[in-house]
Amino acid sequence: MLEKIEEFEFEKVINEFEELSKNAGKVQEETLRKILEENAAAEYLQQVGLDGRTDSESFKQCVPIVIHKDLEPYIQRIMDGDSSPILTGKPIPTLSLSSGTTQGKRKFVPFNDQLFDNTMQIYHTSFAFRNREFPIKNGKALVFLYSSRQFITEGGLPAGTATTNVFRHPKYRKLMKGIQSQSCSPDEVIFGSDFHESLYCHLLCGLLNYNDVQIISSTFAHSLVQAFQTFEQIWENLCFDIRFGSLDDRVTDPITRAAMSKLLKPNPELADLIIEKCSGLSKWYGLIPELFPNAKYVYGIMTGSMEPYIKQLRRYAGWLPLVCADYGASEGWIAANVNPRSPPEEATFTVLPNIGYFEFIPLNETRNGGAEPKPVGLTEVKLGEEYEIILTNFAGLYRYRLGDAVKVMGFHNSTPELKFVCRQNLMLSINIDKNTEKDLQLAVEEASKLLIAEKIDLIDFTSHVDVTKEVGHYVIFWELSGEPDENVLKECCNCLDRSFADAGYVSSRKVGMIGPLELRIVKKETFYKILLHCLSMGNTLNQFKTPRCVGSNNKPVLQILCNNVVESYFSTAY
Ligand code: AMP
Repeated sequence: MLEKIEEFEFEKVINEFEELSKNAGKVQEETLRKILEENAAAEYLQQVGLDGRTDSESFKQCVPIVIHKDLEPYIQRIMDGDSSPILTGKPIPTLSLSSGTTQGKRKFVPFNDQLFDNTMQIYHTSFAFRNREFPIKNGKALVFLYSSRQFITEGGLPAGTATTNVFRHPKYRKLMKGIQSQSCSPDEVIFGSDFHESLYCHLLCGLLNYNDVQIISSTFAHSLVQAFQTFEQIWENLCFDIRFGSLDDRVTDPITRAAMSKLLKPNPELADLIIEKCSGLSKWYGLIPELFPNAKYVYGIMTGSMEPYIKQLRRYAGWLPLVCADYGASEGWIAANVNPRSPPEEATFTVLPNIGYFEFIPLNETRNGGAEPKPVGLTEVKLGEEYEIILTNFAGLYRYRLGDAVKVMGFHNSTPELKFVCRQNLMLSINIDKNTEKDLQLAVEEASKLLIAEKIDLIDFTSHVDVTKEVGHYVIFWELSGEPDENVLKECCNCLDRSFADAGYVSSRKVGMIGPLELRIVKKETFYKILLHCLSMGNTLNQFKTPRCVGSNNKPVLQILCNNVVESYFSTAY
């Protein structure tokens, strides 16, 4: 079906999605049957005694719920070049490398043609809905895309980030034709060897095409914010290059330089125009529509760990809508944003019932201390309830705990619309206290309100559990745009401590089993140093997510944080 999309047929894609979502239950059973049939010969499925059965009852009886660690020996064999049917009937051709920024460890997961097709289906579906609301005609897109290099495993398999694997797939260009506005930047910039250089050139390409740019996007909100923060610093250099048709010495990669030199010629009028636009802005508010007057929206993942960047992004985006990108993981896609007009805070993702088989572990029961509850099916989830997702896909993952918590906000026909809540396993915990990434985010949001009167922004934050003393305590690191009054920071610290409201934390604090929360203010650009460190470890900017809780095992990042502390405050809230 996918191969036929030459001219993008919006209505057809929307109608197909509507049909799938009307029959979500049936489609799920059928999808599971296909997955199990195609992979009946896989050693993994044979071992669990499925014996060729493809119904959901037998599947749930025989196949255990697993986490990545359980699959590592199988994945290792695939990486080492064993091409026998291990997890899938056909050999796995490629591996994806997850970001690991949330857990401190990168994971390899299988990638194959079916996952590529799922990606295209998600892209096509959300694009069809997005384009119905915000039609784009012959426009260009300023896409801050940084493709990492694929590498070869010991066993000869190519491996790279999931985005890179999709991007390098031989069918990618053909299937994106008609749905992707032409990127302003040439491939040499996207595949450039250094992200600073690529970012500089992306900005330059965007400015050269300023009148044609209709979409500004990146995978994550973080890299959009990062791009325009960089613009604030280097815009005069960019104008110089535009004026004289030259290219700054900071771009050293000869391939990138050669590609850029074809695009640059002296254009003093444009340089003057950009200077005029930038000079008229207050605190860079509305920078994006000012620079790109025909832009229709700003697009990227803005939910979950990206939420804290929305405020900074809105400053740059001004009146332009922020449109949330879809929900997936290196392990596979889950859901598309089919309500593109929803603001990021209310964004939901509608599950595509034919891209995998989905089960949901109810979290309320788990949190209330009961035994591990039974997972329910896609069409059995209840409105308003929170669940952890279990994924079965076409690339050898069976009943795999993705580790994400989601909330059911509604239904599109019979398939659920999910709100991303947080990563499940990310917890601040010393004894009986349990705080997730979301709890941390809410506490930080509450405390940072106290900075508004000081006209100071919170640039970024993370946390750490310090158990080096007899009584452990939470440490929150903040990077700020200015220097607030000491009393304000003391109050922020108390507010953070009070905002962790789970009963375990409050009672432990009251009896002194957890020590006073500590707020540590770090120097400007500390989080940028963390980003650079993660990139030096092989992460791409497209995949980077600030680690919201830094464990003692993540020594390099903890060291960067600790070495850059300028002040610290202990709470007196209890
Ligand atoms: P990775 O490990 O690099 O594959 O990242 C996958 C993880 O990113 C998912 O498991 C989610 O926790 C997070 N993620 C992906 N898409 C979204 C989204 N639209 N909203 C919030 N979080 C997301």
